[in-house]
Amino acid sequence: MIQITMPLGFLGTVYREIRQALVDMGEMFDLLHQPSEIEDKPGANVLNVQGGEVVLENVEFHYDPTRPILKGISLSVPAGKTVALVGPSGSGKSTIGRLLFRFYDVTGGAIKIDGQDLRDVTQDSLHNAIGVVPQDTVLFNDTIRYNIAYGRANASEAEIVEAAKAAKIHDFIMDLPDGYDTSVGERGLKLSGGEKQRVGIARTILKNPPILLLDEATSALDTQTERDIQDSLKAMGQGRTVITIAHRLSTIADSDEIVVLEKGEIVERGHHEELLARHGRYAAMWARQSAEEEEAQEGAA
Ligand code: ADP
Ligand code: MG
Repeated sequence: MIQITMPLGFLGTVYREIRQALVDMGEMFDLLHQPSEIEDKPGANVLNVQGGEVVLENVEFHYDPTRPILKGISLSVPAGKTVALVGPSGSGKSTIGRLLFRFYDVTGGAIKIDGQDLRDVTQDSLHNAIGVVPQDTVLFNDTIRYNIAYGRANASEAEIVEAAKAAKIHDFIMDLPDGYDTSVGERGLKLSGGEKQRVGIARTILKNPPILLLDEATSALDTQTERDIQDSLKAMGQGRTVITIAHRLSTIADSDEIVVLEKGEIVERGHHEELLARHGRYAAMWARQSAEEEEAQEGAA
């Protein structure tokens, strides 16, 4: 497919852009599961990102008016800080992610980035400002270089390598038979879950968004891979505003704030240590997960 883009220069660019849009949507579907029906308002401005502060002001939301999903959520993620959303399945974590992308409009309150209401800015500029690392990164039947460069079509070789290094996948790539020219995907070399995720991280690093939305993988990666991924994610989070939807509490213990959701409401919030000392829901979740992890380790040993 990539061959035809050479002689048909202009068409190729258009084609790549369409494909990029489809990929972005595909990834979004993975994370967010819903298509957007929202349109830009007439004369919508381009989002002007300063530091990337994200604020939810008393956000209410329902998919169906008979069933409120978010019941007045207020939280603030200062520029460059990290907030983790935790809570049982169905508590509304992914819904907050969908609203941040403006796949839906809030039904009460407001979401603002650097003071600008999401409803007042173009969706293109909003989506450019937010990087997503979905649970499953989609790979194309193409080279690993191409797969990383999906984050930014005009990236230079040096930038691609730099992103791969930051995502801790460069050494792995250099050990492949054809290095960055190695074909991957269904018809090429199959990458493991952890390797694919690192390609996704490299892609996002290359895109260089000021705001990151991470949906932590629930799939069981082995402990070392998990640690490597966490290192890559942490490196990527440096200097960015990060919202993590977390399943494994051990990975978010050092967040600037942990927000515990239950049935669409914030039931606890604070630092890890504060929440443990409170002996409430977070402490109970933590105790449960620690016990499970110990069991898993004993099982593995
Ligand atoms: P979490 O990510 O915390 O598991 P979600 O935000 O995905 O929770 O879901 C919150 C609630 O919203 C759940 O009760 C879920 O069933 C409901 N929900 C999610 N998506 C839709 C939808 N498209 N239509 C109706 N209800 C939905
Ligand atoms: Mg979810």
